[in-house]
Amino acid sequence: MEKIILTGLRPTGNLHLGHYFGACQNYIKLQEEHDFYLEIADVQALTDNFNNPEKVYKNVFEITKDLLSIGLDPNKVNFFIQSKIPEIAELTVFFSNLVTVARLERNPTVKNEINQKKELFGTNGESITYGFLGYPVSQAADITVFGGSLIPVGEDQLPLLEQCREIVRKFNSIYGEILIEPQQVLSNTTRVKGLDGNEKMGKSLGNAIYLIDAEETITKKIMGAVTDPQKIKKDDIANPNVCMVYYYHNLVNNKEDIKKVCSECKSGERGCVQCKKELIKAMNDFLKPIQEKRKYYDSHPEIVTDILIKGTKEAQKKATAKMEEIKKAMKIDYFE
Ligand code: ATP
Ligand code: MG
Repeated sequence: MEKIILTGLRPTGNLHLGHYFGACQNYIKLQEEHDFYLEIADVQALTDNFNNPEKVYKNVFEITKDLLSIGLDPNKVNFFIQSKIPEIAELTVFFSNLVTVARLERNPTVKNEINQKKELFGTNGESITYGFLGYPVSQAADITVFGGSLIPVGEDQLPLLEQCREIVRKFNSIYGEILIEPQQVLSNTTRVKGLDGNEKMGKSLGNAIYLIDAEETITKKIMGAVTDPQKIKKDDIANPNVCMVYYYHNLVNNKEDIKKVCSECKSGERGCVQCKKELIKAMNDFLKPIQEKRKYYDSHPEIVTDILIKGTKEAQKKATAKMEEIKKAMKIDYFE
């Protein structure tokens, strides 16, 4: 059977290096090989941004432009908006019977995120909403209603995919073999770290380098990046493996320079300021073509909207067909 790629991004901010190296690089490859649906997950973004609808609205267009700038081809990828496909919300309701509250509370990704959002959900998660706790259920609906079988994601998404597979197995065991169990596609860098050394670079964590960052912003951010705390003086010997500057050299610089940075850092022949300046140059060189391409979409917002309309129409066709099958299997297809 033909494999369908399904993936999603929350319109909560622009794309950063974590998205690019953790997930999007794989999109670029996969668009050449498979039927590809890319969800702009506005409903999921609202679960923790319900009080900020303008932010979500604006970022639907921002993130679409970012994705087009890195080389996704709207003729190969169907960009669609989650809230425009009501079948997703419908299937979420059906799925919510197949998962326990305790199971959702144990999900490591959800637990982690509740912890990071104390302002919204309370110091011990006592103000957690039904909607946020349930977003993995909604994500299972996102995937299965399009028959998504290959899911390119970063590592933080793995517990959510496992949750989806559990729901699929339960659904199929009750209603018949209707849904596909999705598999993840991971990139070489499954989790990109933040400027502050945090294990995850994240939009909500304030530790990201964005693909749209201007040269001055890049300079400021890299100058403030965490380096080996043992290295005080320029010629101190240091450990590049605990340094975020070396870490990002590895992402955007060429092999030769990376080797040089590593050996000079270890032997005390390189100061952090010089090393940061070299990274700033490599980072700007890496971002330049992406930012050039983005200018085109910035000056043609109508093209971006058309891409979303066309992709949403395609996605709707898929969801309508699958939902018919699902309702029949669940014996809720009463009449036309
Ligand atoms: P938010 O904080 O709003 O959840 P986010 O930065 O986590 O934003 P998402 O839209 O939730 O971004 O994730 C989109 C995709 O990017 C997912 O596949 C996710 O796994 C991947 N991703 C996000 N951050 C990283 C990272 N630091 N390293 C690797 N992959 C990442
Ligand atoms: Mg996220």
